Amino acid sequence: MSKLLILRKGKEESLKRFHPWIFSGAVHHIEGDPVEGDIVEVLNSEGRFVALGHWQVGSIAVRVLTFKHQKIDVEFWKKRLATALDVRKSIGVAGTANNNMYRLVHGEGDNLPGLIIDIYGENAVMQAHSVGMHVSRMQIAEALKAVMGDTLKAIYYKSETTLPFKASLGQENGFILGESSDNVAIENGLKFHIDWLKGQKTGFFVDQRENRALLEKYSHGRKVLNMFCYTGGFSVYAMRGGAELVHSVDSSAKAVDLVNANMELNFPGDKRHKAFAEDAFRFLDEMQDGAYDLIILDPPAFAKHKDALKNALRGYTKLNVKAFEKIPAGGILFTFSCSQAVNKDQFRMAVFTAAAMAKRKVRILHQLHQPADHPINIYHPEGEYLKGLVVYVE
Ligand code: SAH
Repeated sequence: MSKLLILRKGKEESLKRFHPWIFSGAVHHIEGDPVEGDIVEVLNSEGRFVALGHWQVGSIAVRVLTFKHQKIDVEFWKKRLATALDVRKSIGVAGTANNNMYRLVHGEGDNLPGLIIDIYGENAVMQAHSVGMHVSRMQIAEALKAVMGDTLKAIYYKSETTLPFKASLGQENGFILGESSDNVAIENGLKFHIDWLKGQKTGFFVDQRENRALLEKYSHGRKVLNMFCYTGGFSVYAMRGGAELVHSVDSSAKAVDLVNANMELNFPGDKRHKAFAEDAFRFLDEMQDGAYDLIILDPPAFAKHKDALKNALRGYTKLNVKAFEKIPAGGILFTFSCSQAVNKDQFRMAVFTAAAMAKRKVRILHQLHQPADHPINIYHPEGEYLKGLVVYVE
């Protein structure tokens, strides 16, 4: 018997506009006893077909896979993955000698809600954010191998922290195809150790690639402070850009080890770089006026959801004020927010408030966002999360 989810009257409006989520409040009733992660057929109140998607207990009841009546099998995943790969080839991040790490699947942005796949050389790191994608993981892995062919040797599955806690899911991290200990990947010609076993997210913040490349252009002869450095992506680019000195700061000692290792890979023995395991707010309070004329602020998401918005905005203002107070005239600030709950106008307002509090003259040079391998589904504006400003401080 098929598993059906019947919507309340009038609740299919957002689906007509191809929004890929069905909230639990829109559900009238469910038939066929689905278990979490099952594919359900969604019908409107008159019994007409609307969509197929993964069902899950929670505020998002269904993540839509397709608005067509079709079979969800290996062929289905292959088609979606092949399209995602085509997109990455057309934007020039896949299959180039200069760059072998990129996001292949960005959830809703690639019409695969709840699924993230990052490629690091011959390895893929796959992450499920929905029970359905977890249940489908072996089929997806098979399809991924078929689409990537010999360029893919191993798939590491990393969903321990991204799935709702369910003892019965058994979502342990581990290889689901092949095995690999080679974890050096190349971004724009620079080498990075990728720690997918223990690192944050899939091991690297691929989403800052283009913003790091922009930073490189501004680095020549500058004293650079990379705050919240994690693996030191911005720091390595600043070194290549000819910075006079580069200081990396992260509160995590493990991150400091990572940035040092990445520096050794690219600029062994280069004395221009130093890393500090310190709290960002304290470091900014204690540093000397004018010590750095190029500062990067790329903190973790201050707001994980809407309720935390006010505090998050205050946090961004507080952080940016500290940078504005200490940066010398002619200094440049790269400032970011990766909180999905904070939109770009709110973020800009937080930075505006910080500039005004520090009484500095500030020009916006660039407005930055997530790169093209983190696409936004036009019907799912929630997919927009990374925003940044590059400002010139007089
Ligand atoms: N800029 C990085 C990504 C930053 S992720 C990149 O390009 O890859 C956020 C980092 O902030 C994490 O590594 C985390 O350890 C660090 N962090 C969190 N709170 C901090 C604090 N109060 N002070 C310093 N670092 C902090």
